[in-house]
Amino acid sequence: MASNYFDEHDCEPTPDSGPEVHTLLHWARLLLSDVRQFYLQNGGLGFPEELSKAPPAAKEFVQSLPEKTGMPSSTKCPICLQEYGSDVSIKELPCQHHFHHKCIVPWLQQTNSCPMCRKEYPTDDENYEEYRKEKSREKQRQFERETLHNSMFT
Ligand SMILES: [Zn+2]
Ligand SMILES: [Zn+2]
Repeated sequence: MASNYFDEHDCEPTPDSGPEVHTLLHWARLLLSDVRQFYLQNGGLGFPEELSKAPPAAKEFVQSLPEKTGMPSSTKCPICLQEYGSDVSIKELPCQHHFHHKCIVPWLQQTNSCPMCRKEYPTDDENYEEYRKEKSREKQRQFERETLHNSMFT
């Protein structure tokens, strides 16, 4: 009568990895590939915390970006690294960074910040706007606490 697992399954135990370890590794790999899939489906933005923080820029904001004119055609677009060339539409963000229209629009459909300086722009996402307001209120409170603290102890 077989008395242990290895006899029954006709394989030799090795000192560092039994069948249990292999199963565990298998599950770990599956889990990782799920996470990766999720990450890619969400536009490959920051991971994972930033995923929930980066909604697209507001449609109206994107549509109202001013056209940038008079750029030398040899200037390179920071997104695609191609020269602007002649006869293309170039858009300028309020932070004064500029890009091909065809490059910045898809970018802003993914996230609400400038690819160059990370300045954040309005979104259509109410939860996010609420979160952002809350964050700046928190900063304000922090500032007030510090000011109060300083006035009491200096
Ligand atoms: Zn471009
Ligand atoms: Zn910028």
